[in-house]
Amino acid sequence: MEIARPAKMRYCTKCVYPKSSAVPLAFDEKGVCSGCRVHDQKIHIDWKKMEEKLKKLVEPYRSKGNKYDCIVPVSGGKDSYFQTWYVTNVLKMKPLLVTYQGNDYYDVGLKNLHNMRNVFNADHFIMGPSVDILKKLHKKCFKMMGDMSWHNHCGIFSFPVQAAVKFKVPLIIWGEHGYTDIGGMYNMNDLVEMTKKYRTEHACRGFDWYDMIDEEIGITEKDLLCHKYPTDEELEENDIRGIYMGFYVFWDANAHFKRMTEELGFLPAEFPFERTYRRFSALDDMHEAGIHDYMKFIKFGYGRGSDHPCKDIRLGYMTREEGIANIKKYDAVKPMQDLNRWLKYVEMTEEEFDRTADTFRDPSVWWIQDGEWWKDNIWGEPSSYGKVWLTEELQKKYYWNDTKKGISRGPLLITQGRQDIKKSSEEKLSTVPQN
Ligand SMILES: [Zn+2]
Repeated sequence: MEIARPAKMRYCTKCVYPKSSAVPLAFDEKGVCSGCRVHDQKIHIDWKKMEEKLKKLVEPYRSKGNKYDCIVPVSGGKDSYFQTWYVTNVLKMKPLLVTYQGNDYYDVGLKNLHNMRNVFNADHFIMGPSVDILKKLHKKCFKMMGDMSWHNHCGIFSFPVQAAVKFKVPLIIWGEHGYTDIGGMYNMNDLVEMTKKYRTEHACRGFDWYDMIDEEIGITEKDLLCHKYPTDEELEENDIRGIYMGFYVFWDANAHFKRMTEELGFLPAEFPFERTYRRFSALDDMHEAGIHDYMKFIKFGYGRGSDHPCKDIRLGYMTREEGIANIKKYDAVKPMQDLNRWLKYVEMTEEEFDRTADTFRDPSVWWIQDGEWWKDNIWGEPSSYGKVWLTEELQKKYYWNDTKKGISRGPLLITQGRQDIKKSSEEKLSTVPQN
């Protein structure tokens, strides 16, 4: 009997991203994803000219009085080091470093964070919610959206903007624009700037601080002050503007890491991660490469075992074959070390975690066969990935009664504003039935 299943997963022919990517991708006629297409623009950019443009752009923001010249939001990671080094050494500006501290740091990440004050001789404003509230937010957001790290995404994109208003420093210099880097959301020459819309719809998954108020578990408005974005009036009154350095300065995480380690004492993790080979990422959030990333696999069928090769393939550090070998090694790993630590932190059992996690699987990625979860693999044949925890009722979403092969029931993802990336013929709207 033929198994009823979703349409075969499509993978970028250049990097290793699946069509189910958390950051929406469009594919061109050759099967290359929008992330790769936009990345390829980087070799044609005159970076010297862009750096000159940046220098001119920041000039009016140099403080005439006794104020900071700009805000640099930092997590203490290798990119934070590079941003601050560039701002202080190349742009010769006096920044205020600003950090949302979500209490998920590895020791080495915290060491890097606190070293920034000494290394860059800079003032550093660090803010974090109470640990009791953070534990409640972890649990609530995991159940609500399958993302225990929501408080981090929201705090990181809100608190530095609050600081800009508080200290009346109009210029915020962010690092890379994440959705452009990963998915090619914009062209490199669009030079888009930070908006509340981007923060809420993308970084915060469409949720805001007020969605977290919960009388039953004891989260009030007063507990979420770090997660509030300033009002339009506050932003206008202070002329707040957030630019992305990644559009003006060539971004290569591996090169930044090497340079920041050799010249400024940045420390990588001394231990291997459970779900990726990279040792210099996510030191500010232990779950980001752990169970937060495992949830990405549960939801979309891939994780950092795919993300990091995509970055390294695009930059020429890795071949696609080596990338696929990493996916095989890492993407499906259940990170028990990190999971056990988190379960203890929020007081949850592993079974409750598994049962909740299962409700977030994307039906355009996963199907059920003989009581097991199945999905496609980039290397060929599909395979099974463990027990189904869902009740009979919840399993119905994954039953493919429709025997028409090659029809996707998932939502059609089109990268916003990308008219230059053509949809290929088999992805026309008319072939996708409504849910
Ligand atoms: Zn690609």
